[in-house]
Amino acid sequence: MAQGTGAANSQQAQQGTDIKHKMPVLGIDLGGTKLSCAMILDNKIVSDVRKVPTPKGAGKIIDAILKLIADFQKDNLIGGVGIATAGIVNVETGEILGSTGNLPGWEGTPIKTIIEQQTMLPVHVENDANAAAYGETHVANLSKKACVCVVTLGTGIGGGIVVFGKLYRGAHWAAGEVGHIKVAMDNRRLCTCGLFDCWEAFGSGKGFLATAKEILSQVSKEQSELAQLADTVTVELVIENAQSGDVVAQRIVQTWHEHVVSGLVSLAHTLDPDCFLVSGGMSKFVNYDLLRELFVDRTLPRIAEKVEILPAQLGTDAGIIGAARLVVDAIIAN
Ligand SMILES: [Zn+2]
Repeated sequence: MAQGTGAANSQQAQQGTDIKHKMPVLGIDLGGTKLSCAMILDNKIVSDVRKVPTPKGAGKIIDAILKLIADFQKDNLIGGVGIATAGIVNVETGEILGSTGNLPGWEGTPIKTIIEQQTMLPVHVENDANAAAYGETHVANLSKKACVCVVTLGTGIGGGIVVFGKLYRGAHWAAGEVGHIKVAMDNRRLCTCGLFDCWEAFGSGKGFLATAKEILSQVSKEQSELAQLADTVTVELVIENAQSGDVVAQRIVQTWHEHVVSGLVSLAHTLDPDCFLVSGGMSKFVNYDLLRELFVDRTLPRIAEKVEILPAQLGTDAGIIGAARLVVDAIIAN
C-alpha cells in the first residue's frame, strides 16, 4: 500500500512538473571550435540548432552566448539556460575552475552569475562530457539504473558517470575524467594532458592513428598497401582496408578494440555499472560483438555477465540536450 501511495504522489509530482515545464529552455554547448545552441522541450530539440565559431577570450565568449540567448528570446519565451562547457566546472557556483587548452582565458570565469544577471533567467553550467552523459542517460530511460557510464570516443576520450539518475561529480568536480585512466606502463605514449600512458593516448582517434603508425612502420608494402602511409593514414582508410581483407589493417583494428576495452575493464571493476553507453566520433567504428568478447575475457565474471555495452543515441546533440535537462531539473529542485 505504501508503495501505491508513493507511486500516486510521484505521479502527481510528475504532472505538476509537466505543467510547470511546458516552456522550452535553451541548451548551449561551448566547445573549443564552435558554440551550438537550440531550444529544448521534453528532452527534444524544438528549434533549429544555431552554431557560431567560438570566439577567443572569455569576454567575447560571454558576448556570443548573450547574443544567442537574445536572438532566441526575440521570438520565444525561454524558461532557463543550460550551458555545457569544456573544462572543470563548480556546478554550485557555476564557475570554471579548470579550463582546457581549447579555451584559453576561460578559467576563473563566473559564467553562471554573469549570464543570470544579464538575462534574469535561471542558468545551470556543467562540464560538457557530464552534460552529454546526463542527456544520453535520461533519453535512453536509464535514470533509474544504479550506474550508467557514458564514454565518448573522439579525438580524445571523455566520460560521465550517472548514479541513480544523478551525475557523480566527485570531491573536486573532476569525476569522469576517464580518458586519463592509466592503461600501460613504461611511458609508452604521451597523453595530451602531459601524463604518460593514459587511456586516451591509446583508445581515442589519435590513439588509433598512433597504433596504426607503430604497426605500419614495421611491415612491408607486400604485407599491406598501407605500409607506405604510416604517417598519413586515416582511420577510415584503415577500417576500409580491414574490411577488404588486409590482415595488417585488421590487426590495427583489433588492437584498437583491445585498447578501448582496457579502459572499460578498469571502469567496470571500479563502478560495476549497469551499462556503458559509447558515443563520440570514433564510436561508429566500434564492432560491438568484438568489444563485448574482449571485455568478457578480461573482466570478473560476476560483473562481465551483466554489464551491457551499447551505442549512445544523441550524437553531437547530447551536450545541448543534457545541459537543457540539467537546468530544468535545477528549476524543479528550486
Ligand atoms: Zn592524460
